[in-house]
Amino acid sequence: MLVLDVLLNFSKAYLPAQIGGMMDAPLLIISVIDPFEVDEAHNLDVASFYPLAFYEKTLEQADPKIVSKIIDVIEHRLGTPAQFEGYSFTHMTYDINEGNLKSAYIDLGTMANKLAGQLLLADKIKAVDSKEVAKKVLTTHFIRDISGNLKAFTGQKFRCKKCNAKYRRIPILGKCYKMWRRNPSYSSQKRNPKIFRRS
Ligand SMILES: [Zn+2]
Repeated sequence: MLVLDVLLNFSKAYLPAQIGGMMDAPLLIISVIDPFEVDEAHNLDVASFYPLAFYEKTLEQADPKIVSKIIDVIEHRLGTPAQFEGYSFTHMTYDINEGNLKSAYIDLGTMANKLAGQLLLADKIKAVDSKEVAKKVLTTHFIRDISGNLKAFTGQKFRCKKCNAKYRRIPILGKCYKMWRRNPSYSSQKRNPKIFRRS
């Protein structure tokens, strides 16, 4: 029934005009799935355990492309009956919904705690350079967020609460030009210093 939904409730007229609008649209329907064409899944490992040689290769920091040859991945099974069956796994579970219901990200609360937790973890993991982590946080999040916030702050518009006139920024006059022009003795500032609201 879900498959038929594509035929019943879909029209190209529904597609968004923006770039990427066609990205997930069901424009092509394949009735027979050929594992050879599902290349996203070719790297999926279906081994029940990893061989000792794999762990030895990790010590040499070997290229994953070389190591994947000794792991049971779907790619090796293509064209054989095993491409459809006998997939295994390394860790047993009784319920696919099992796992953390609440991530540490929520438990940690404040951003400072989250960051401290991330750096503490980075320090503990041998493969991670905690200085690089700190640098990435600063350059990809912190500085970008601050500049984004500043841009939003300086770009915000203001509106007069009384006559709804809109201004790109608070008038230097400190009061609404429109109302001041009508009556120069009018001072909105004296009566209500908060007359301008962000809009
Ligand atoms: Zn006004």
